[in-house]
Amino acid sequence: MKKILIIEDEPNIRELVTYNLKTNGYEPLEAEDGITGITLVYKEKPDLILLDIMLPGKDGYDICRELRSEGNNTPIIMLTAKSEEVDKVLGLEFGADDYISKPFGVRELMARIKAVLRRYGLTEEEGDVKKSEDTVIAGDISINFDRHEVLVCGEKVELTMKEFELLGFLARNRGIAFSRDELLDRVWGIDYPGETRTIDVHIRYIRKKLGNGADEDKYIKTIRGKGYKLK
Ligand code: CA
Repeated sequence: MKKILIIEDEPNIRELVTYNLKTNGYEPLEAEDGITGITLVYKEKPDLILLDIMLPGKDGYDICRELRSEGNNTPIIMLTAKSEEVDKVLGLEFGADDYISKPFGVRELMARIKAVLRRYGLTEEEGDVKKSEDTVIAGDISINFDRHEVLVCGEKVELTMKEFELLGFLARNRGIAFSRDELLDRVWGIDYPGETRTIDVHIRYIRKKLGNGADEDKYIKTIRGKGYKLK
């Protein structure tokens, strides 16, 4: 069972996350301040850390920087408050792996945890023994879910986390058309407050990065009145 440490001073969030970690098959560990958090990192060796930024005493940035400078590479997902837009960027520069803005939906959080663990090859489904790599091939496109890597005709393409997840979802369900609402629910999580336009923007970027040339529908096809599918 993967251990996940949450370092968060707000008891409501800590309890909610802890409860949901448990029901999703993880072993939760809790710390309400940075010093306790760091102690637990070394004592319990969690597989992933959920790290709040605004903490009493040592804040999330300090903790992240301290762990990384000591050579600790435990995956870290930063929890940022909405007003801390800048913190998102900073958080990643401090050596975090991902961030999630408060308030967040439980489904989105679980999806992020899973995605980050997967990137580190720490997914639960296959236990601790890694089998052959999880790859989906769709025409010219090859998507490696273990390495979080996309190749088009053998050339590596850099996608953001969400672009990867969106393309990955379409690839796993190749040939099936999904509406924008369905894609938002499935990729961003049902509680995500975003708009369906988000999907169009991401699709546009993915298409550009995959290299459509003149043919917009070359890889991802627009289905009128419905949404998108991967050819
Ligand atoms: Ca806080």
